[in-house]
Amino acid sequence: MGKDRGPARAAPLSDRVRVASRQADFLPVARPDLSGNERRYVDECLTTGWISSAGPFVHRFEEAFAHACEVPYAVATSSGTSALHLALVAAGIGPGDEVLVPVWTFVATANAVVHAGARPVLVEVEPVSWGIDPQKAAQKITSRTAAIIAVHLYGHPADMAALRRLARRHALVLLEDAAEAHGAEVDGQRVGSVGDVGCFSMFANKILTTGEGGVLVTGNRRLADLARRLRDHGMGRRRYWHPVIGYSYGMSNLQAAIGLAQVERFDELLKRKDAIAERYARGLRVIPGIRLPEARSGVRPVCWLFPMLVERRTFGLGRDALMRALAARGIETRPFFYPLHRLPPYRLRERFPVAEGFASRGLNLPSGPAITDDEIDRVIEAIREIQRHGG
Ligand SMILES: *Cc1c(COP(=O)(O)O)cnc(C)c1O
Repeated sequence: MGKDRGPARAAPLSDRVRVASRQADFLPVARPDLSGNERRYVDECLTTGWISSAGPFVHRFEEAFAHACEVPYAVATSSGTSALHLALVAAGIGPGDEVLVPVWTFVATANAVVHAGARPVLVEVEPVSWGIDPQKAAQKITSRTAAIIAVHLYGHPADMAALRRLARRHALVLLEDAAEAHGAEVDGQRVGSVGDVGCFSMFANKILTTGEGGVLVTGNRRLADLARRLRDHGMGRRRYWHPVIGYSYGMSNLQAAIGLAQVERFDELLKRKDAIAERYARGLRVIPGIRLPEARSGVRPVCWLFPMLVERRTFGLGRDALMRALAARGIETRPFFYPLHRLPPYRLRERFPVAEGFASRGLNLPSGPAITDDEIDRVIEAIREIQRHGG
């Protein structure tokens, strides 16, 4: 599940999985469901010739997405990473600033901070939400701290109430990286709309997709306007007048056409995701050595991919061996992300035991919205068999 380039189906795979992917019964980790108006809308782009970010679907997609997230403004972008970068720059984060980032996240969260010229400060995650630990974050605040990024990892909302209090107390920008959590809720409020600004990815394996793409959402009109201007080469209403140095981070009409069709089916896709998670949970809960994440009260998680932990001693095999055994059966999985302090650009000697404990034991199961109940049962059965026979 680490974010891979290219279509979800053709992700870079280990040799073992690549062999498996030629089998007729290969089950990919995330197959998108494009069975709504996607084809019709894309066809409209081709017929009318509007294929760039100047086309009408971009605005329609932004309106629909904002409405679905219950926020006033949405700005469509070329990727989740460019949305994060724009959000930081539009919020005034830059050189000399420190930004608190959870040590366990997809690497783009920290990369965006570096792209903005600021310094990511890695913070331990907390064991229930898997999000940035508000107490540990407080300990890392300095006079240079300008923002906190809450990541809703694997669809599980971070502790937003505590983070909001912390941000308010220290006058920090609170940014949500909701790339993996479209539709998740905290106290009845959709993630992305809880902090000052929220960012979503629309990559092919995310909950809603445009193939490649992203969205920034906010209730702050000035921030939205500035993000939009920065996205479009820093140009305002006056053509070719560029008062600031911007980027070329627009979403194309083709992508937005797919995005609009996806948002139209948001509730339906979320319902399917819930059913997938429930079916997996029912089947896996009874297998010795499998641990599933719990949801905090007041929080509605969403199933981006289906995450689970393997307790080697009880299960009989470790995470990597289980992944290999599933790959041999044509079932593609993804290991949990490495904690950032283990990656060369962010290497630290500091220890982050909570993140390390999760990262080394977890994997994500196939769980794209197009997966069938039979396919889910096949995965559960395979894990049961691997547990019973040790491989
Ligand atoms: C996928 C993802 C991103 C990046 O999104 P792209 O659209 O691939 O640029 C950022 N943060 C998290 C947590 C992600 O999962």
